[in-house]
Amino acid sequence: MKQETHAFQTEVKQMLHLIIHSLYSNKEIFLRELISNASDAIDKLRFKSQTEPEILGSDTDFYIRITPDKENKTLTIEDNGIGMSFEDAVENLGTIAKSGTAGFMEALEATRKEGMLTPELIGQFGVGFYSSFIVAEKVVVESRAAGADKGVRWESEGSGEYSVAELEKENRGTRITLHLKDGEEGDLNFTEEWTIKDIIKRHSDFIAYPILMETESYEPIPEEEQEKDEEGKAKETMRKVRKDETLNSMKAIWARKKEEVKDEEYTEFYRHISKNWDEPAEKLHLHLEGAVEYDVLIFIPSKAPFDLFQRDRRHGLHLYCKRVFVMDDCKELLPEYLGFVHGVVDAPDLDLNVSREILQQNSLVRNIRKNIVKRVFDLLSKMEEEKYLSFWKEFGPMLKAGIPTDFENKEKIAGLLRYPTTKSGEKLKGLKEYVENMAEGQEAIYYLSGENLTALMNSPHLEALKAKDYEVLLMTDPVDEWVVDSLREFEGKPLKSAEKGDLELEKPSEEVAESFKGLFEFIKKELEEDVKEVKASARLKESVACLSADAFAMSAFMEKVMQASGQ
Ligand code: ADP
Ligand code: MG
Repeated sequence: MKQETHAFQTEVKQMLHLIIHSLYSNKEIFLRELISNASDAIDKLRFKSQTEPEILGSDTDFYIRITPDKENKTLTIEDNGIGMSFEDAVENLGTIAKSGTAGFMEALEATRKEGMLTPELIGQFGVGFYSSFIVAEKVVVESRAAGADKGVRWESEGSGEYSVAELEKENRGTRITLHLKDGEEGDLNFTEEWTIKDIIKRHSDFIAYPILMETESYEPIPEEEQEKDEEGKAKETMRKVRKDETLNSMKAIWARKKEEVKDEEYTEFYRHISKNWDEPAEKLHLHLEGAVEYDVLIFIPSKAPFDLFQRDRRHGLHLYCKRVFVMDDCKELLPEYLGFVHGVVDAPDLDLNVSREILQQNSLVRNIRKNIVKRVFDLLSKMEEEKYLSFWKEFGPMLKAGIPTDFENKEKIAGLLRYPTTKSGEKLKGLKEYVENMAEGQEAIYYLSGENLTALMNSPHLEALKAKDYEVLLMTDPVDEWVVDSLREFEGKPLKSAEKGDLELEKPSEEVAESFKGLFEFIKKELEEDVKEVKASARLKESVACLSADAFAMSAFMEKVMQASGQ
């Protein structure tokens, strides 16, 4: 039988160290993470069984089972989901999926400096499984993938390495055994039934599969089984039994009435579907009736994940049909630039066996998508400004990308843009506010783009505009070039670059132009390779000269960006 010992990826080692030393005040969250993984594993199996029904075999009652063992101080979490193969275990439980991203390393560095890893940060790292090591000195994972005949046993003490071996396992799915650490005084005891029940009620109540635990209870003894005394009276009428109790209500949050769902319940559900650990910034919960009927529950996160711009990032909504899971990351329900939105759509009229390919042409799906996009814009535009700005800081760069890609909603997205301006000081301004405060006689919205704010604020290109008391939007994100190029105008006002063309503010006097003709020709000759034209301009007030672009050419910043990206 195959048996190997592997060293953890370096990032995992650092992570484990941080988890163990930083999360002691949030110990109980390990259980939510393991249950969430078990639920994901069953979802995955269901999705697969839609096209390969035979993989379910006779094991069709899905469950998650919790077994505490006081004597041996272990806690076991078991599921009959999709399971893992030997290779899956090495891949999924030895590395961190997001470890390659630049954001990951930055955050790791930041936490090392701070000396603390907050639960939010861990959540963004995507290290749900590793949180087992907060409470366990040893973790054993036994698993068998659906359709496979061999299983795998993974074991680690959470320090430098783990071992993997082939294993005979009779049923499909995953069993995780935590060998619990000796707790400190006042610690929760995770083999205690009421502790487990309480954690599950608070964090995992909405999980769609039964979370079972064998518990002790009393039941009446049937008449014929009762032992009688001399007088014919029953000695005992009740007896102790151990039987399965379902610890979660399994109620789909989106199908419940809004008034009946507590904020904490929404938050826990959000954390489960998004795999984030933050509080959602906004939520929207709707039951739509009429021609098309469906439930929607969507969330806007408060913090961006590290891999927001990663190409293969999971995004999209979870799709359900009459509370039965159809698929996660349903990209057809949201355009890519709204990829930060998390949530669920439950469409009763959808075919349960719908495939991803069919979804693209499905008119019901298109209809739902259109409505959700509209609702997301409503939600964002109604946010209180301060709160919106912190959203913008996190997700603005992604939202912006909608302007060049979603023609239909261009104007709406434009209303959500925020920029620093020559007049806004530390604050950011939207285009609407800009237009409302335009100077008298000002016809256009002016912007200037470049690498950083200091350089922009000192740009000679601003002189003439400043003299006229015109405000200028300052853009430092390379994407903004594409944004303004495709936006072109807002509320009927054209967007104009402060560094392109002649700004049409005022013409330089003929006299001046004429008297410097000789000088201009000389400069042009000397700089032949580099400049197209040398001419008098009205745009400068204090500086002697500046470089500017043709009205329809690339800006200097854009040229730099293009050069840097090798184009
Ligand atoms: P995430 O859930 O965000 O993917 P985790 O660290 O919680 O990250 O889990 C890592 C991976 O390990 C999962 O993506 C999954 O592939 C695998 N895994 C964990 N638990 C299970 C389980 N109970 N059944 C099958 N696979 C699992
Ligand atoms: Mg997880």
